[in-house]
Amino acid sequence: NNNNKESTTSHSGGNKRFAVLTSGGDSCGMNPAIRAFVRASLLRGAKVFAIREGYNGLVTGSIVELDWQSVGGIISRGGTIIGTARSAEFRTREGRKIAVFNLLKNKIDNLLVIGGDGSLTGANILRCEWNSLVKELVDDGKLDQSCLASHPTLNIAGLAGSIDNDMCGTDFTIGADTATKRILEAVDAILSTAVSHQRSFIIEVMGRNCGWLALVSGVSTGADYILVPEIPPEEGWEQSMKENLEKGRLSGRRCSLVIVAEGAIDRQGKPITSNYVKKVLEDAGHDARITILGHVQRGGVPTFLDRYIATRMGMDAAEYFFECKEGSEPVFIGIRGLSTITRLPLMQCVVETQSVGELIKQHKFMEAVKVRGILFEQFHEIFMTCSNLKRKQIDPKIEKKNFLILHSGGPSPGMNPAVRAFTRLGLDKGHNLYGVFNGFSGIAKEEIQKLDWMTVNGWAVMGGAELGTNRTVPNDQNIKEIVQTLVKYRIDGILMFGGYNGYIGASNLYQYRNTYPELKKISIICAPGTIANNVPGTDVSVGSDTCLNNILDALDKIKQSAVASRRLFVVEVMGAHCGYLCTMASLTSGAEQSYTMEKGITIDSLTEDLKMFVERFKREHKIGLIIKSENASSTYTTHFIYSLFKEEGKHLFDVRESILGHLQQGGSPSGLDRLVSARFMRYYFELIDNTPQLSSNLSGCIGSKNGRMTFTPMDEMVQSISPKFRRPIHQWWLDLIKQSQEISVAPLNLESN
Ligand code: ATP
Repeated sequence: NNNNKESTTSHSGGNKRFAVLTSGGDSCGMNPAIRAFVRASLLRGAKVFAIREGYNGLVTGSIVELDWQSVGGIISRGGTIIGTARSAEFRTREGRKIAVFNLLKNKIDNLLVIGGDGSLTGANILRCEWNSLVKELVDDGKLDQSCLASHPTLNIAGLAGSIDNDMCGTDFTIGADTATKRILEAVDAILSTAVSHQRSFIIEVMGRNCGWLALVSGVSTGADYILVPEIPPEEGWEQSMKENLEKGRLSGRRCSLVIVAEGAIDRQGKPITSNYVKKVLEDAGHDARITILGHVQRGGVPTFLDRYIATRMGMDAAEYFFECKEGSEPVFIGIRGLSTITRLPLMQCVVETQSVGELIKQHKFMEAVKVRGILFEQFHEIFMTCSNLKRKQIDPKIEKKNFLILHSGGPSPGMNPAVRAFTRLGLDKGHNLYGVFNGFSGIAKEEIQKLDWMTVNGWAVMGGAELGTNRTVPNDQNIKEIVQTLVKYRIDGILMFGGYNGYIGASNLYQYRNTYPELKKISIICAPGTIANNVPGTDVSVGSDTCLNNILDALDKIKQSAVASRRLFVVEVMGAHCGYLCTMASLTSGAEQSYTMEKGITIDSLTEDLKMFVERFKREHKIGLIIKSENASSTYTTHFIYSLFKEEGKHLFDVRESILGHLQQGGSPSGLDRLVSARFMRYYFELIDNTPQLSSNLSGCIGSKNGRMTFTPMDEMVQSISPKFRRPIHQWWLDLIKQSQEISVAPLNLESN
């Protein structure tokens, strides 16, 4: 089929032609990445093609053009609609020559590859050989001479689609968060039976070369022991594992949990299998069972985080192809934290990633962990401490410091894991830790409990807030009692882990130091624990991820309820005066419109939207979705919008109103929320350690910006919020409001192409 001589024309500007392929193992989030890439490319006038079944499709010429509709409805689907495979033929130069021919037959010279390091390596090789292969094809008479000038290079962008979170150059790979969710669901289910029978469970998770899934599952479930390839256990680990499990049982735990990565090894590089761990435990008298999670980890509906990062990366890949110059180095598109998309040289990221396997083979474990990155290192340290495996020797001569944790504001998933990490990391440093019940009023009423190691047993997985939370702030009525309690317990530091109200409460308390000089000795720090993500000094707050997963679950069900009917849903989500949840939910659910306070609602914008929906439903559109933030407008309420659209659209479509309410705040915290809360606590004690003389000078808030931990002093923190709107003045995600709508609503010219 290669015998027809192909000629291609130059394709600058509006004639750009891009292709996307998914390769290697599939991962949840590949579909949202394809959707975003395709639509962002179409919007700017490119033609987009799918290569089916990974590199196989390049070799066999299975290349199809995609339009707006062909990627509709896939944002919530796991796997990849364009198929993925491993291709032996593409590994050969001959195979790649056919690939070049097939690409140029379709005049494609921009290729997005979504896959693991192998797939990205393949893309780079194709790019390096491009010119010489085109020449050969011209010499063979298969391509027209003009191809050399019109397609001198192949532009490559790569996204990491991998459940292992094993790529350097990004904080998250597409699919790792969903895999973690699957593991946590399984462990939650197993723990309830394990507790009933006092059993020991060994859970084997994926990760041949990378222990990320085992590590983060260990941190987030409070496992007793983990085995990962990068950090093989010390000689004689069997004994220390048994001892740790025994210690746990003696202190009251009714079950034990060991998580084993499938590629776990010992210090000599010998595999440690789940069966071996079982034997060790059985020999020690445990009733031990193995569960191998296998492919469930790859499947299911993508989580919020995977849909979000995939969408942002996909959009950026389209932008890159419009911007890149001829001969540009291939880029790897990653993300730092939640806010910042990064572009790095692709091969630098691949080479670094692949070096980990080599370092493990050479038993250079410390170096392997360094290459994995700071998150891996920190989570391992947190795991070792919180599971009681590696504790510091405390110098008895050093005077203990007293710290107190409280929540304030609405309840948020992640509060309990935060208190657990606070307690255990703090005890490890030799401090006295106290928990306050029911916020600032609990300090006034002296509702305080000393936190011991076992007080927080099992809290790693618990939703809600065992310490309780309320909205009272320090004021003239309660400040005297608050100060009395703080003095009585000789408190050196207060950590408020909560929402906007808590930040106001902490700043009030800080202000009172002028009237009550006793407060000058106390550090007052806020950490973000609110679903609304409306607090200063951070890109992301603990709880918002669980909340967004709850919202997406509900939206997926709501959408399904509308099959075979023309229905427009107006769904109201929480968020107080902040449109973060609304915007993120819209971006990751494919809602056609979102209403936030930041954007505002006017009668003109409503009329315009109404016209848009009428037009869409006229053309056989089946379902429409509007997401509205609870306080988007005090006049145009959810019910008003519902009534308006219902009345005006009644001949064409039905409208339903749905207020999601408190289900958004509930449930077991997501993996990300459990991890981030632990990381905040680690950073809190790092700040404390680095401050020789604790005082109110160390007051403010901690947060995560661009994925890195930061501290904002109190005055700056107060200045960065808008008291009127009860949210930060600068919000990093505002541009996403527009982008979200752009890739969800087809412009007329693209609707039927
Ligand atoms: P996973 O992390 O799921 O294993 P991966 O992308 O690393 O994903 P691989 O099996 O290594 O998976 O690679 C997928 C495909 O990419 C291979 O089947 C092959 O077609 C291509 N590929 C990988 N490495 C190379 C290479 N060195 N040269 C050419 N093609 C390659």
